Formats: sequence, structure tokens, C-alpha cells
Amino acid sequence: MSERRENKTILQLERVSRFYRTRGNVFRGGGRLVVALNEINLSLRAGEIFGLVGESGSGKTTCGRLIVRLEEADQGRITLNGEDITHLKGKKLREYRRQVQMVFQDPYQSLNPQVTIADSVAEPLITNKVGSPLDHMERVLKVLKTAGLSPAEDYVYRFPHQLSGGQRQRVAIARAIVLEPSLLVADEPTSMLDASYSAQIFEILQGVRDKMGATIMFITHSMASARYLCDRIGVIYRGHLVEQGPAEQVINAPQHPYTKALIDATPKFGRAAEVPTYGTLLAAERPANSSAGCPFFRRCALAERLLCAGTYPPWRQVGPEQVALCHLLEDAAPAVSTG
Ligand code: SF4
Repeated sequence: MSERRENKTILQLERVSRFYRTRGNVFRGGGRLVVALNEINLSLRAGEIFGLVGESGSGKTTCGRLIVRLEEADQGRITLNGEDITHLKGKKLREYRRQVQMVFQDPYQSLNPQVTIADSVAEPLITNKVGSPLDHMERVLKVLKTAGLSPAEDYVYRFPHQLSGGQRQRVAIARAIVLEPSLLVADEPTSMLDASYSAQIFEILQGVRDKMGATIMFITHSMASARYLCDRIGVIYRGHLVEQGPAEQVINAPQHPYTKALIDATPKFGRAAEVPTYGTLLAAERPANSSAGCPFFRRCALAERLLCAGTYPPWRQVGPEQVALCHLLEDAAPAVSTG
């Protein structure tokens, strides 16, 4: 928690890009290069919950996979506590993975159905040769409790099929925190759960941050979830970050047209009168003649054809610690670097 007060940067992404090649065929030859992430600059502060928000296919999961090094960046640099981890291999990569863990979207697939909960949660301890078998059970009980499975003794000898979806996701969280990582990447951990379970998972993640001091990257398509849980938010569209800032500020005063469209699409329920709407800012998808312009040009209803299609927009300071990537921001300060 002291680190949290110091505002220390724990993780930094500098101009990180990731490309995939689509499969070719006999008629058209080799595959096409698709940009999954384009020169992402991002910093996470120690002890914060940072929300990476975007629709399906925006590149947010790819970003999480690069951070936990399930994939390797094609360009750019990722550092944890100042150490370059972008291309770590072998023993150093294994050591890095003790510090950085991931909770996956699907609790049904992230646990081995043939292994008891105790063995599943203890496996990272055994693989990393941490503690003795006696310590293992103690640690397993402790993290199951932290993950809200209480009394923990009732769960250790069960198998995943004997648990509900929400309970399985708690086990997946327990497994991810058993090595006491300094950074946890939670990739849409509630998207397969109903609302009441989602709220419980949010509380558990807050507990992991508050009691264990872990920093969390929360990947989500839901602005409502990000608002509930996160200290800061980054909005990502087709591999490009388009807005970043404190969660309340981005949601109460969004500046980028895509962020506004996401907020318009968020269910308002009983608070509809309090929450402004921005009208639809999405145009029917239009062609773009080059990739040089704004990444949102194809769908932006506010686009100015010559400027937006031809020139990549600069980052603008639009509020205290809030920046947005757009040519047409009223009252915005001059361009800033997000690196
Ligand atoms: Fe829309 Fe142009 Fe701003 Fe891009 S730069 S978000 S196309 S107005």
C-alpha cells in the first residue's frame, strides 16, 4: 500500500505492437498482415486497478497476453519495475511468470476437470518449487478464503464439475494469486457470470489489491464494470489506444467519439437522468483510402474527410491526467506524449 501512495510505475508498455498473418490460400498466395496492437503506450501504477476497455476484437486480450508473456511483442518494449521483459526466455521468463499472473475469461476451461481444487491451486507452487507440501495446503486454504470460498476446507477435495461457474472463477483467481504476484491480469473474468456473481468477483479483486498489494489490469468490454472497479481507464479501438485517464473523469467527461459511443451503449437503468448521452457518434462503416489517418475514421460520424482520413491524430491533454487521440477536440491543450 505504501507503493500505492508513492504513485510508482510498475508496468510500462512503450510503442508495443503485435501483428498476425492471416492464412493465405492457393488463389491469393500468402496471408495478409493484420495489426492487433499498434504502438501502444501504457503505464500501470503500483496498487491500482487499471481498466482496459474495448469491444470484441479491439486487441485488449492480446495486450494482456503480451504482458503475461503468453505471446511476444513484435515491436516495442515492456518493462516491469524498470526491467525489460519483452523478449525474456528460459529461467528468467519462468521467474517473471511468478510475479505476473492471468485470470482467464472462461472458468470452465481454465481448470483441469480431473484434478481436485487443492491440487489445481497448489500446482503453481509445485511447478515453481515454492514451499513444502505442508505449506502448500496452508497456502491453498488461505487463497481459497481470499477468493471467497469459505469454509475453504469444504472445497479442497472437490472437482471443478462439482462447483458453479462463479465458484470455479474464484478457484481460478485463487490459483492465480497463490504465488502472490505483484501484477494480475484479469481478462473479462465476469463475462460468463450473472450479475450477482460478477459483483462478488469485483469485491474479490478489490480484496486482492487491498490486502495483497497487487496491481491489477482489468480487461473488459463493459464501461459499467470499469467504472465500478477501476482507478484509471484506457479505451482501445482496433489495436489503438484512443483515450486514457482517471475512471470517473473518462466516464463523466469522455472526449473521444468512440468513448462517447461506448458510454451511450452502456445500460443506464435507474440513473438515466443523471447520465448524459452523446447521440450516436457511429457512422456506417466507410472505406478509408490509406492507413495513415485516424484509426476511428471509418466509423466516426464527426470525421472531417481530408484531415481525419489523411493524418494520424495527436494525443491531446483534455483534463487532469486525461488524454485523447483526436484532431477535433475543443479546448484541448496541445499534443502530449503518452510514452
Ligand atoms: Fe473522429 Fe477525426 Fe477525431 Fe478520428 S480524429 S475520432 S475521425 S473526429
